[in-house]
Amino acid sequence: MENVIILGAGIAGYTAAIYTARANLKPVLVGGPEVGGQLTLTTEVENYPGFPSGVQGPELMQMMRKQAEKFGTRFIEGVAKRFDVIKEGYEVQIGEQVLQAKSVIIATGASARWLDIPSEQKYKGRGVSTCATCDGFFYRGKEVAVIGGGDSACEEGMFLTKFANKVSIVHRRDELRASKIMQDRAKKNPKIAFIWGNVVEEVLGDGQRVTGVKLKNVKTGMITEMKTDGVFLAIGHVPNTKSFEGKLDLDEKGYLKTDRCMHTNLLGVFGAGDVQDFKYKQAVTAAGSGCQAAMEAEKYLEGLEH
Ligand code: NAP
Repeated sequence: MENVIILGAGIAGYTAAIYTARANLKPVLVGGPEVGGQLTLTTEVENYPGFPSGVQGPELMQMMRKQAEKFGTRFIEGVAKRFDVIKEGYEVQIGEQVLQAKSVIIATGASARWLDIPSEQKYKGRGVSTCATCDGFFYRGKEVAVIGGGDSACEEGMFLTKFANKVSIVHRRDELRASKIMQDRAKKNPKIAFIWGNVVEEVLGDGQRVTGVKLKNVKTGMITEMKTDGVFLAIGHVPNTKSFEGKLDLDEKGYLKTDRCMHTNLLGVFGAGDVQDFKYKQAVTAAGSGCQAAMEAEKYLEGLEH
């Protein structure tokens, strides 16, 4: 019986690990399918306090992992397939391994949202990507489209201009959702063009690779075809809560419901980071909620002893 299992090795999970390890709780941290979380898919992070010259996302995650290890966190790789309530606490199945713990911190984050059209799946990995940092390199001298209008779309668009000759940001509205600073930078970039009020109807290809996209104007319904070598989706994320359906309270979008102290509806189970945050989704807020969840878990375990 472990004291605490932390599910998810993103910024929230690592922070929870640092705090629970320093509290001598010997936490077990389960890596999940995307070790390091969304920050490993980004380049420079400019708004994490303490780094006036910015810090590379993957480097920040490496440092956090080291810090968690230093205080005695035990790492396990694998995906939580099953989560159950047992008499003494909770049981989690990681691959073939079954772990039991008195408390659980869920920091499973969120994964990229897809458009949900068949042609996107057909060309996934053959021109359709959700990660400019991972795949941008392959588009040297080519033309790419970025779908979305948030900070990610602007950031990915700008990153892609390092390789591509032209980047078209396709957004479904006439106005970006991105922060002012990101909008200004993207709009100033001569390699970026904006296509407003359009959605992707179909990803076009020659059977092997993407060759273009079929776009639909949301106001007029007019269909146009645009030539492109790559399609980068930056249309937000969906929370990773599938294993907890029916066991823990989720909201209508699937986010884990937590109160202000990161408690879920089950005693001793806490949520932290993007899995429970539909609003801020920032590195620093994920770290903050990881700390809160860890401190609440510590208090809960202390209560059990007495
Ligand atoms: P987001 O802010 O939720 O934006 C998603 C964008 O995709 C929106 O513009 C949305 O359109 C569009 N969209 C959603 N579903 C769509 C669909 N089915 N078809 C077409 N378009 C669709 O997501 P994000 O850009 O990934 O950002 C998430 C969070 O991370 C934000 O809080 C952001 O500030 C933060 N972030 C920060 C930085 C940074 O500061 N450097 C970088 C990246 C992300 P609508 O606008 O019409 O809803």
